[in-house]
Amino acid sequence: MDRTLAADLARLPDLLDATRRAAAEALAALDARPVVPDAGAAAPPAPEPLPEHGTGTEAALEAFRSRWQPRFSASAGPRYLGFVTGGATPAALAGDWLTAAHDQNSNSAFDGAGQHLERETTGWLRELFGLSDAHTGTFVSGATMSNTVGLAIAREWLGERLGVSPAEDGAAALGPVRVLSGAPHSSIAKALAVLGLGRASLVRVPTLPGREAVDPAALDRALADTPGPAVVVANAGTVNTVDFDDLPALDALRRRHDFWLHTDAAFGAFAALSPRHAHLTAGLDASDSVCVDLHKWLNVPYDSAVQFTRRRDLQTRVFQNAAAYLGPLGDDPDLVHLTPENSHRLRALAAWFTLRAYGRAGHREIVERDVDCARALAGELEREPALRLLAPVRLNVVCFTLATAPTPERLAALREAAGAEVFVTPTVYGGTPALRAAFSNWRTTQADVRRAAEALRTAAKGIA
Ligand SMILES: *Cc1c(COP(=O)(O)O)cnc(C)c1O
Repeated sequence: MDRTLAADLARLPDLLDATRRAAAEALAALDARPVVPDAGAAAPPAPEPLPEHGTGTEAALEAFRSRWQPRFSASAGPRYLGFVTGGATPAALAGDWLTAAHDQNSNSAFDGAGQHLERETTGWLRELFGLSDAHTGTFVSGATMSNTVGLAIAREWLGERLGVSPAEDGAAALGPVRVLSGAPHSSIAKALAVLGLGRASLVRVPTLPGREAVDPAALDRALADTPGPAVVVANAGTVNTVDFDDLPALDALRRRHDFWLHTDAAFGAFAALSPRHAHLTAGLDASDSVCVDLHKWLNVPYDSAVQFTRRRDLQTRVFQNAAAYLGPLGDDPDLVHLTPENSHRLRALAAWFTLRAYGRAGHREIVERDVDCARALAGELEREPALRLLAPVRLNVVCFTLATAPTPERLAALREAAGAEVFVTPTVYGGTPALRAAFSNWRTTQADVRRAAEALRTAAKGIA
């Protein structure tokens, strides 16, 4: 064994303890440090060559803490409101550490405990989101991958309707495909590119006036114009205004049209946790496939989402991995036959930990507190004449812009001026350049809202 490696092995408990202390210090500093370092501070350090001989974990930890850690954002903290960003609850962090410590490859029954744990976790998640046991869930790395897997199953369903198998014969066997959606997330187009259906297969259906929710009557007409079976991507929580398609109305269209219903509920599915908001996800269970991100509002570390479907048989047709060393498919196929990955880390463990530690009620409290924070921020910004809200706060996102001349340049200046206190990301809503503040971190409180509002108001006045 390499001498440095052997020395590290001999001191492993000490090294883990030093790492724990470094992590605890970094987390304790979250509140005080800039939410995002300014551009100068975030620039990459001078490159270092690949070491020929290493100097061990302790030296690597020191190098990381001096060269890279100061460049990181406080994205685990309470005022990082860009994109839709969760943190990691204490239990999720513990679960993630143990994922690496146990280093399980949870893909098959030959060493099956990992996949049993994944199945227990997807069962809990199914309940959490109010889905029936007609759905089975699988862990994937994020919502983009969850959408990709859902649409891969949809592709196979189209094949079933047309008497071909795209998984066997290629996507070309389907002929032209139409994927209809009102305000799809950008990852849908990416998924269609990956799946050989093409970005051009995505057809935008008009949304309701002043809304991001699809107009069911327009969808009805678009489906009538579509020859043969189609795919509909419903949106349960759009990123700009967290608008929800009317899922029961979409489901009702199946009486007249033949389509696969995939619902992108990446973070909107969490509305189901709260009696105050659950009406938004009514009808979710009728979907043929559902995407839910977990590294957003479940607050587990990155690399976690779940994909649910009612047609695991079609899922297996796409993702089966025939090899002599893997088991037969059977009634309950190994995870290796269900997702694009073969080997994968036991990513369910972080989700298992946080659900086991805080339960439905604990996670409902996070969701409701974040929604309350979003509403409070909207109230604060509404009172500032230099700013203007672009949409009502439907759930956890505030979409706003400068009251005068909201150019991308002026909005970038606003973001930068406020960046030490609050991080928001740019968007365009209804043709207007804008900013979004999305609340999905478990740490965020009303005190953070006041700090964020103050920073945004001051920055807006500064460039008004
Ligand atoms: C975040 C998001 C995605 C993509 O998620 P990743 O985890 O970044 O892959 C897809 N759809 C919606 C609605 C989202 O909010």
